Parts: sequence; structure tokens; C-alpha cells
Amino acid sequence: MSSHDVLSDDDAIDPAANLASIAAEIESALEEAGRASGAVTITAVSKTHDADRIRPALEAGHRVFGENRVQEAMAKWPALKADYPDVELRLIGPLQTNKVKEAVATFDVIESLDRPKLARALAAEMEKQGRRVKLYIQVNTGEEPQKAGLAPAEVPAFYEQCRTEFGLEIEGLMCIPPAEDDPAPHFALLAKMAKSLGLSGLSMGMSGDYRLAAQLGATHLRIGTAIFGTRPVH
Ligand SMILES: *Cc1c(COP(=O)(O)O)cnc(C)c1O
Repeated sequence: MSSHDVLSDDDAIDPAANLASIAAEIESALEEAGRASGAVTITAVSKTHDADRIRPALEAGHRVFGENRVQEAMAKWPALKADYPDVELRLIGPLQTNKVKEAVATFDVIESLDRPKLARALAAEMEKQGRRVKLYIQVNTGEEPQKAGLAPAEVPAFYEQCRTEFGLEIEGLMCIPPAEDDPAPHFALLAKMAKSLGLSGLSMGMSGDYRLAAQLGATHLRIGTAIFGTRPVH
């Protein structure tokens, strides 16, 4: 872990400075791995943080943010988007089919597509709203029973079904490795799967392992704590 995610004094949190130092770290990781500069986008995970904590990142020019709850994003983001209309909002948490309408209206990218029922509902809702949302299939690389996402073996057939049966365009894959595991084999597996399916997007890596994810091919890193500090407990 890097030093900026252990700050406990809330007033000492400087999201803009944290973003800048993380971006520099990522650049050096990319260089080490022989990947192109700028090959990775930071998704600043702002879940549970209020607008006052998020604004400094927007003021510093950051535009890509992640939220894990539809309801929370709907409450927080319209006002922020009024000031920063070019924000890209990414849903990184589970999506119930009864929230699909709100999710399609609120988010630009949904990273938690993991079942046919949801794929069907998203296709119908995008058609209805005339709005195209980018989609990532969530893969449960650790095959943890309590975790969302498809088992790796199920992904190729589901991907085909999304394309042929629902007419959905899939941009990439997303994973959250088991907390207790070395994330490297999970990142490598996801990268291999994306490559074999011809998918360009790879959402993997969080505050504790973003350097590694950048080296193993991530295109989007989902970073919360290292940017905004520890999340308020509810
Ligand atoms: C909260 C969350 C993150 C960010 O985690 P940090 O450890 O705070 O960087 C990343 N991905 C998902 C899916 C999350 O829910």
C-alpha cells in the first residue's frame, strides 16, 4: 500500500494531490511493463463520499468516476454533472433488474453485467431511452460463492449470447479478486480472457494493487481509498 491511503485525518486528504501522485506511479509502472504512456484510465471511486470531497478532483480536471449504488449516484451526481457535463460515470457495483431504468439514465458505463436477465433488461432499456451505455462483463475469477460475476468458464457463451441474442456491444471484462489472494494470477487470467474474446477493456486493480494491475494490462483502475481517504462507516 502507498502512503496516501493510511491518512486518518480527514482534513489532510487532498484528492487532487493523491490523483497526481497515483498517476505518476502508474506511468512508471507502465514504462516498466513496456506499455504505452496513458494506456490506463483511473476510475476515481467516490462511493460514500459527499460532493465536497469529490469536487477537488473535478476541479483538478479528473473526469472518470465510479459509484457502486444506483440510488447514491442519482442523489449525488446530477448537481456535479451540471457543473462538469463531460464526467464519465461508471457503475462498479451489482445491478438489480428493477434499477435498470435509473442505471441506464445515470451511468455511462456499467461494469457489473453478469447474467442473461440483466443483459436482456439493459438491451430493452437502452433501446427505449435511445441511450447507449458501455458494458463490461464481471468475472468472478476466484469463483467465490458470495461474489457477483460469472465463473470464467461461463464467460465465452454469455458474451456470445449478449451479442447475438441481445444485440449488445461489450467493451471489456471486470474482476474483483479475492481479498486474501495474490491478485496477479487473477489479473493475468482476466487479461487472457479479454484477449481471446477480442475485448479491449480491462477493469481491474484497486488501491492496494493498481501498480500490478497496470503492469498486467488493465485499461481502467478502480481506485477509491488512495484518492479520497478511508470511507465513512455507516
Ligand atoms: C469500492 C470499490 C473499489 C475501490 O476500492 P479501494 O480499495 O477503496 O480503492 C474498487 N472496485 C469496486 C468494485 C469497489 O466496490
